[in-house]
Amino acid sequence: MASRIYLDHSATTPLDPRVRAGMEPFLETIFGNPSSLHSEGREAREAVERARAQVAALLGAEPAEIIFTGSGTEADNLALLGAFPAEGASGHMVASAIEHPAVLETCRFLEQFGAEVTLLPVNSNGIVEPESLLRVLRPQTRVVSVMAANNVVGTLQPLTELARITKRQGTLFHTDAVQAAGKIPLDVNRLPADLVSLSAHKLHGPKGVGALYVRRGVRLHPIVFGGGQERGLRSATENVAGIVGFGVAAAIAREEMAAEASRLVGLRERLLSRLRETVPQAYLIGHPFKRLPGHLCLGFAGQEGEAIKLLLALDQAGVAVSSGSACSAHHAGEPSYILTAMGFDPIRARGSLRVTLGRFTTQEEVDRFLDILVRAVASLRSVASYAGFALSAREG
Ligand code: PLP
Repeated sequence: MASRIYLDHSATTPLDPRVRAGMEPFLETIFGNPSSLHSEGREAREAVERARAQVAALLGAEPAEIIFTGSGTEADNLALLGAFPAEGASGHMVASAIEHPAVLETCRFLEQFGAEVTLLPVNSNGIVEPESLLRVLRPQTRVVSVMAANNVVGTLQPLTELARITKRQGTLFHTDAVQAAGKIPLDVNRLPADLVSLSAHKLHGPKGVGALYVRRGVRLHPIVFGGGQERGLRSATENVAGIVGFGVAAAIAREEMAAEASRLVGLRERLLSRLRETVPQAYLIGHPFKRLPGHLCLGFAGQEGEAIKLLLALDQAGVAVSSGSACSAHHAGEPSYILTAMGFDPIRARGSLRVTLGRFTTQEEVDRFLDILVRAVASLRSVASYAGFALSAREG
């Protein structure tokens, strides 16, 4: 039997065996608490600091600017909650309408405590136009949050321009780079962001570990209180094995990024052009080239209502893809707020298929996926036209 084809790398990625090898000693023999003064503790501390330098290097940052967290979600929460004083959330903040729930739900929470939130619109490609930020920024805006790359449609934002506009105003700029980090170059020496969120499991590292880059001199308020680890911003005994894995994953991603990005763009474009030949009703959602290297978001004209059926048919045929973000599995069948913000009508906003390639995706898998997809789309069409025929026959 042919092996399964995993094409849902925006949801999560398999652990790279090199990452796993790096983590293994920290799950076995090296178990010290990095805060302990004895040799076991110091060995763990050295490993955490090595990983901090590796993660920092991915962004061109200094190690002291990296705060390890329990996830990308927590990094987003720390960035935004931490930008407001503990006494109350008065003040204005801006986020794009297509942010991940880790940002949007934090905005809603802050709203309940007095913050005023402005959501920025996006154009039909899912891009925030810099003029729209210029229009809403106020002298009292505390923080602007715009993601580097969208998880559902894969579109990249004009980050440098958005960050420059924000910084001219003296406002903090946060970017959720959970999808982008390790896939496209991000250099905080050129990008004037103050806060950048990352997550290890999106770049072939372990789950349950993230990081927030906090530019030197930027002051945040902690959201987790305790023993004062991570410069007092994220108290808790460090997840040493996870952090070590994140470090190795970041180092590999940095080293292999350029070659891997061009390989993935090649596979993505091969898939897209063959799809257009074989399934003419398929269309690409999001920007045609300002997008993550291995990311495709597809619609099927006239069959948008069938996206979940298509996903399940593909799953049965041995392929894992997504109908949006992994989080939207809780909202399967509902219109996507991201596609809605891009101007899609409610029917089309329900019907996307997200196909995301990763480090271990091969050309053979892409070609096999295409054959399976063509058959799945055709079988849905014949079921749909049979159902339509049966209905009209009965009604007639
Ligand atoms: N931000 C974006 C853009 C994401 O895609 C995700 C995960 O899907 C997150 C944040 C949350 O990261 P984590 O799964 O590490 O909490």
